[in-house]
Order: sequence, then C-alpha cells, then structure tokens
Amino acid sequence: MRCQNLTEFGKPLTGETRPDMTVSGTEVLLKVTASGVCHSDLHIREGCYNLGHGQTLSFGDRGMKLPLVMGHEPAGRVIDAGPDAGDIDTSKDYVVYPWQGCGECHQCKLERENYCSAPRYLGMFVDGGYADLLKIPHPKYLFDIGDIAPELAAPLACSGLTTFSALKKVEDTIKIAPVVIIGAGGLGLMAIGLVKAMGGLPPVVVDIDPAKREAAVAAGASHAVDGAAEDAVAQVQAAVGGPALAVVDLVGAEPTASLAFDAVGKGGKIVIVGLFGGAAPWALPLIPVKALTIMGSYVGTLQEFSELMDLVAQGKVPVLPTQTHDLEQAENVLNQLEKGEIVGRAVLTP
Ligand SMILES: [Zn+2]
Ligand SMILES: [Zn+2]
Repeated sequence: MRCQNLTEFGKPLTGETRPDMTVSGTEVLLKVTASGVCHSDLHIREGCYNLGHGQTLSFGDRGMKLPLVMGHEPAGRVIDAGPDAGDIDTSKDYVVYPWQGCGECHQCKLERENYCSAPRYLGMFVDGGYADLLKIPHPKYLFDIGDIAPELAAPLACSGLTTFSALKKVEDTIKIAPVVIIGAGGLGLMAIGLVKAMGGLPPVVVDIDPAKREAAVAAGASHAVDGAAEDAVAQVQAAVGGPALAVVDLVGAEPTASLAFDAVGKGGKIVIVGLFGGAAPWALPLIPVKALTIMGSYVGTLQEFSELMDLVAQGKVPVLPTQTHDLEQAENVLNQLEKGEIVGRAVLTP
C-alpha cells in the first residue's frame, strides 16, 4: 500500500510504501477512493492547538503516536472483509465514520464514541485515509453514498457531521428564531443548507469577509452581518428580531466568542465549533444572569452521522465544491490550505 506519513510533528509528510494489510474478525479493508483534507490536519501536522494565555495543547500529550497516516474523511470500496463482518455489498461506494471509540468506556456505552476516553479516530489515533488502503474494525462504520461522487461525499465525515451535530444541539429553537452562524467558510455554507434541510428559518450569518457574506446570502442566509462592524451585535439582533436564542460559532476566536456572548439573550445557547484558538473574554456573572448555555461541539456521534446520511440520500444536503489532488500531493495541499489558497474542500485521490 501507498501512504503519506507524518513521522515528526512540525515536519513535512513523507510518502511510504508498506506491505498490504490483511483482515480478520469483523474487520473491513477498503480501497480508498477519496480522502478529504481538513483544517484540523494542519493542527495535527503542527502537533498542537493554541489555548490562549500563551499555552498550547499538545497532541503528543493527548496520546497521538507517530508515525501516523492522517486523513479522517475517507471514502472507499470494500475489497476484503473478515469472516465475522457479515454480508457487505462490494459494488457500492461508502463513506467511513471516522470517530471510532474503544467500545468499552462510559462514553462508548452511551453511544458517544466521538468522546471516547481511548479514541481510535481515523487519521488521528490510528492510521487514516491518506493512503490507497484503509482498514476499519467493523462494517457499522460504513455508509452508502448512493449516487454522490466519493470526493463530494468524503468531507461529510468531518465538516458535514461537525456542522450537523452543532445544529442538532440548537434544533429546539431554529424554527422559532433564526440561528446565528458565525463564519461563512465551507462549514458556514454547509450549515446554511443543513438548517434548511432540518426545517429551520433562514439563518443570520456573520463574517468579516464581504465575499463570504455574499456567498452566504446566495446560499440562503436571511442576512449577512460584518462581524467587524462597530454595531455588529445590534445588527445581528435586528436581523434575528431580538436577542439570539442560538449562536453557532464556527470560528472559535476571541472576537467571535465575544460577539456570540453579547448577541445571545436569556436562556440562549452558544455552541462553539471552531478551533481558531485563544481564550474566553466573558464576564462570569452574565452567564447565570442570562442563564446561558455555552457548549462545545466536537464532530458528532455515529447516530448523528446516520441521520445526516439519510438527509443526504434524500438530496436535502448541498455538497460543498471540492478540488481533487493526487495522494502524493498531500504535503503541498496542506501548505496551500495553510496559506488560504484552497477554494472549497481539498480531497486526495490515490
Ligand atoms: Zn476534520
Ligand atoms: Zn470508548
């Protein structure tokens, strides 16, 4: 098999050829047809997140072991399976749920593998999709992509699921008051489409980039507010028709966290998804006074992925534009992503 390997944090990926893998038990071997390149792959390559206050969170300390084949947005075809894997249709293309857990811990027993205390996330804790072959422990992680091209389906495993799970956390209010979405990049555009698919009101979108605001309105946002405007909070609240009930922050920077906190009203929810970095600037007494819920959302559960793929099968989810690149270009693609030179999602094809 061919793979792109991270051997040292902060260093370029290196191409490698390894012996082909074999399967046993319930294991399934896939020929990778597409593998999305995600922003978090940049953090993995770097080896840490910025936590603000001059601190970082190191992936090495979190149990990430090198060498590692990154890639947590894989799609592929089944080419082999162990004797206990059951019947699998080998003529179909699948996208793989990558947020796999140990199956034993409290979180896994609650069917929240994505919060597992001994995670086996593909491309983070076990080898992932920057390769031409991928082995997974069980066919329950496979989802039929129907007629969608693998390079369009692959990013659903991370960007699609992340956005969907965040919106599920505020699903109770999106039909009553427009949800506010901060950040109109790829995730933001995905969120606008998902809100519609979930039956919500057209959302209010915030972004500092005029081109992205325009794209948000074209995608179905009711209003697009410049987050850098002095009266941004007032503009958001005017667009919502009152203090916001739900804000999804897809950026996760200090200015966006501030804006979210000021825009939301009593009983409101702030869901932080973005990992830009920094520290929270909030006045603590206002959290009880406004009875706020401030929650994080990290990817999504297997059940949520199943619900998302049902919406996809019904044609309700707009897929993001993608650019495909050869697997061997992984390092270049990451560098382009870092410089903001990738339009839409980048996908590697082996
Ligand atoms: Zn990702
Ligand atoms: Zn677990």
